[in-house]
Amino acid sequence: MKHSYLLASLALLALPAVAQNPALNARIAQLAQAEETKVIAWRRDFHQHPELGNEEKRTAGIVAAHLKKLGLEVQTGIGRTGVVGILKGGKPGPVVALRADMDALPVTEATGLAFASTVKTTYLGQPVGVMHACGHDSHVAMLMGAAEVLSQVKKELSGTVKFIFQPAEEGSLPGVVGGAKLMIQEGVLDNPKVDAIFGLHINAQTEAGSLSYRPGGEMASADRFTIKVIGKGAHGARPWNSVDPVVTAAQIIMGLQTIVSRQVNLTDDAAVVTVGTLKAGVRYNVIPDQVELTGTIRAFDKKTQEQIWAAVRRTAKGIAESAGATVEVGFEAYVPVTYNDPPLAARMLPTLQAVAGGATNVREVKVNTWAEDFALYQEKVPGLFVFVGGMRKGVDPATTADHHTPGFTLDESGFTLGVKTLATLAADYLAAPK
Ligand SMILES: [Zn+2]
Ligand SMILES: [Zn+2]
Repeated sequence: MKHSYLLASLALLALPAVAQNPALNARIAQLAQAEETKVIAWRRDFHQHPELGNEEKRTAGIVAAHLKKLGLEVQTGIGRTGVVGILKGGKPGPVVALRADMDALPVTEATGLAFASTVKTTYLGQPVGVMHACGHDSHVAMLMGAAEVLSQVKKELSGTVKFIFQPAEEGSLPGVVGGAKLMIQEGVLDNPKVDAIFGLHINAQTEAGSLSYRPGGEMASADRFTIKVIGKGAHGARPWNSVDPVVTAAQIIMGLQTIVSRQVNLTDDAAVVTVGTLKAGVRYNVIPDQVELTGTIRAFDKKTQEQIWAAVRRTAKGIAESAGATVEVGFEAYVPVTYNDPPLAARMLPTLQAVAGGATNVREVKVNTWAEDFALYQEKVPGLFVFVGGMRKGVDPATTADHHTPGFTLDESGFTLGVKTLATLAADYLAAPK
């Protein structure tokens, strides 16, 4: 490990260490710093008024008004609530896109922050709070900041910047097309045609002031699966009259645990099978007719993904048959692997190092089993997705609340680097796209 780290460090030294336009980049850094108070205020406002995927109407309204005020050409209602802003530079050149996601999650906030969300909703029939528990509030605020920065230096930009504010990154309700997929279907990468795309995610487990990324496969593919176990109900006191779908579902859940641990070659790449929901019965002494469970599959290559799909189907079917029950198994491919185009990643590394204040603040990380629908843009055009530190310096990441949990918080001092990263990636790419 140490040796490969040394080799990687030497390889980094061999890359050109200068950004394309030091004067412009210094100006962008200065303007980004000046945005800090506004970006934090925007983020707190979005945090207090979170909206679930495909319902980001208030958020989209604020974004569109901001972009219009900056003099951008603005399109709204792309992919339901998505907003696109187009900034034409003073000189001709390519088109670069910057993307932020806008949606919150059905999580009940328990941070105790002064600007904590008290919004409540019903999600899939269950009462729950709404919370920006993944930090997308900060993404919207940082991209609004980057738009303001770049609009102030537009005369010096060689090309066009497309700002994409996307709904529903966390996924839409089952069977509903949304997020990046719908925006792409509605032409977000065309007119003008996008040549490259950049995006970022705040990370509550890495220090503010740092960036991290991985060339090639960075985050996993994610699929949703549903298994319906159909048995035969009976009085709970007379189970011999039933084909008990509860016990059968429990066996299936345990069987699924052996797919990754016993059947996938873990020396190739990581993989995950997780059951997240289990719906069974209404009363303690009634054996129901059927049970439904849903879960997620994560993988880093197509072959493993297909192998796991087949194994889930086989395991569920085999166990159900042994109990005299039947199953219906369904899969929904949600997103492919988040794949950072290696030449683009290498090309933009000096930019990342420059904005972060040196190579030591940019870490190349291991694969991450999260997934991102940014991957769908990367299937169409070369893209780079970067993690921005959002944890207070000196804190042990093991003690901070994870993304998607009620205690999730961010260190707002990390946002300025996010603004700078987005704006400088765009400016540098336009200055020298190849
Ligand atoms: Zn998330
Ligand atoms: Zn997220």
